[in-house]
Amino acid sequence: MTDDPFENMLAQMDRAVEYADVDEGVFERLKHPERTLKVTLPVELESGDVEVFEGYRCQFDGARGPFKGGVRYHPTVSQREVEALAGWMTWKAALVDLPYGGAKGGVICEPKDLTDRDLERLTRRYTEGIRRMIGPEVDVPAPDMNTNPQTMAWMMDTYSMYEGYSVPQVVTGKPLEIGGTPGRVEATGRGVSIVTERLFEYLDRDLSGASVAIQGFGNVGSNAARLLDDAGARIVATSDVTGAAYDPDGLDTEALAEHVADGGLIEEYTAGDYRPSGLVTDDNPDHVTNETLLTLDVDVLIPAAVEGVITAENVDDLRASAIVEAANGPTTVAADETLSGRDVPVVPDILANAGGVIVSYLEWVQNAQEFSWPLETVNAELERRMGSAFDETIARYDGGETPDLRTAAYTLALERTAGAHEYRGLFP
Ligand code: NAD
Repeated sequence: MTDDPFENMLAQMDRAVEYADVDEGVFERLKHPERTLKVTLPVELESGDVEVFEGYRCQFDGARGPFKGGVRYHPTVSQREVEALAGWMTWKAALVDLPYGGAKGGVICEPKDLTDRDLERLTRRYTEGIRRMIGPEVDVPAPDMNTNPQTMAWMMDTYSMYEGYSVPQVVTGKPLEIGGTPGRVEATGRGVSIVTERLFEYLDRDLSGASVAIQGFGNVGSNAARLLDDAGARIVATSDVTGAAYDPDGLDTEALAEHVADGGLIEEYTAGDYRPSGLVTDDNPDHVTNETLLTLDVDVLIPAAVEGVITAENVDDLRASAIVEAANGPTTVAADETLSGRDVPVVPDILANAGGVIVSYLEWVQNAQEFSWPLETVNAELERRMGSAFDETIARYDGGETPDLRTAAYTLALERTAGAHEYRGLFP
């Protein structure tokens, strides 16, 4: 099986189309991104050096509405990865029934090596590079890995400077002061927590006391951890790039979140005063590794970092009873087939992490209305939309026609997107 995320996405589509009512010609069309812009970004760093970065914006499919998708800053960003992520955004928006197409952006960089000023300059240069392609009715970026509300503020400001007036609606995930919505920062993690609770209800299992391992303790992982902790689950392990923290009695997710919010690393957290109350192996007593975290015997495994971490190589070692995909594309198709064969329920990324784009949509709607909603309204709407997408996926799966939840979710997404294409017809 390939490590190429785009090939992985195509294989997921191929697997689902057998069960979907989709015209063959339209399906062929859906395998190709509409367009991808590659931009060269020379930036004068605070050190005085000029570094030339490379960035992308892919608009995958716009049949259902304006393009929508995050911007990722990471050394492993590539055109193929951005295109795969834009495809996944298309299926996600369709599955949760938002009037959006899918897009994604990325810049190849190591944010840890850049100062705030460097990041601001890079973001402004990237925004200038893609600004002819984006716009409130055209394509609306949002945060993804290593980008945040500040990044969105710089993007909004740069776009607005060229337009000559403030255009908050051009990006979502903004700070509250410039048109952000309450609830956006924790929306993806909240959505992950909502679907995990729904999954337990569906499986007729008790979430209270259930053990959870979360790979990645960034925006999504830390908020999912905190909310699942509040819902009574036990977060036994979590990680970042530097390593993992493990405690079979349950980690203190608040303390860990504070440590990370102050710029701390998990490696330092486990090396400090903190000691776990249980041991994983004799030779590795203090913390599990990022890799062994995936194989812990837990009730739920939540990959919340990068794609391609559950593969043919490690899937036989996985012992989790259920998987909720907070990250995009964490499971390769080969691993997925094994999990499906073993009847391990996997809540697919396009459903599990849709909370972010749902609340981004709610932010965009509020900007269009020039009106702001209270947090309770946002969270209630998030819960309603996640719940109904979950129910529709389960209904499709329970109908017995699809082998697993991912295939069920993909059939719904493909049918909705293909349906939009059929009504719109083929231009010219
Ligand atoms: P983030 O940058 O806030 O956090 C990422 C976390 O993963 C960090 O703890 C980082 O140290 C860790 N990590 C990075 N590379 C790793 C590796 N190779 N192994 C283990 N851990 C690693 O990013 P985020 O916004 O939390 O996004 C995480 C995932 O969720 C991504 O796949 C992203 O596409 C997806 N996602 C995010 C949102 C959102 O609203 N932020 C929405 C939908 C999906």
